[in-house]
Amino acid sequence: MRTPLIAGNWKMNGSTELVEAFGRTFSSAALPSSLEAAIFPPYPYLEAARRAFAETPLRLGAQTLNPLHSGAHTGEVSGRMLREFGVCYALVGHSERRQLYRESDEQVHDRLLAALGVDITPVLCVGETLEERDAGHTMQVVLRQVGYVMARLEPEQRERVIIAYEPVWAIGTGRTATPEQAQEVMAGIRDYQAGFDRDLAAALRLLYGGSMNAGNAAELLAQPDIDGGLVGGASLKVDDFLAICQSAG
Ligand code: PEP
Repeated sequence: MRTPLIAGNWKMNGSTELVEAFGRTFSSAALPSSLEAAIFPPYPYLEAARRAFAETPLRLGAQTLNPLHSGAHTGEVSGRMLREFGVCYALVGHSERRQLYRESDEQVHDRLLAALGVDITPVLCVGETLEERDAGHTMQVVLRQVGYVMARLEPEQRERVIIAYEPVWAIGTGRTATPEQAQEVMAGIRDYQAGFDRDLAAALRLLYGGSMNAGNAAELLAQPDIDGGLVGGASLKVDDFLAICQSAG
């Protein structure tokens, strides 16, 4: 059985008030017992979130991390620091970081290794652009992104990685992949992993991301290879995020 995860990526949004609203709502919310749910707020809200979520099932994630522990890297934050704030997960290779900050597969790999090194579960984000999909290159692009990282890990490291398939054309656009489109790519990722190890592939947790909301989550999460969601816009509305979590049982 793969444990479902619903991860809310606030990006550069949110406020102390929103953190507190999540704390209040989730302290009394009934969630499916097997579900893991996490919020990935901007760094300045981590401490407030740690306190506000203490009596809730919500865990904490980071949106990125620097591969190094410390040093002369103005503006950067290391995994070791995030760990001190109770961070359990970190996104690596989100398409906004790949596109806006030119993060390469190699840098994504370094960040992922850094997360593993401090016992933070990395959520490796992969996905194709609309041009790549229209050109018929979806699987090639996705498997290059997955393969670059996974092929460089030891088997016991691979077991600790979560993969989020996020078609770039579906992120923040309101245009969701159909459950069939998402399932097809997820199955392809799982098959690829089976090439390393069948048991590992069967245990690999795969999330879908891209305009997931309270209305479409249940259908996406019902797909056999989709084990959870990475939610952007809808994770900024406490009732919507709760509804998504409740549909993941
Ligand atoms: C994301 O940022 O990872 C994401 C999936 O965003 P949205 O849900 O807004 O498309």
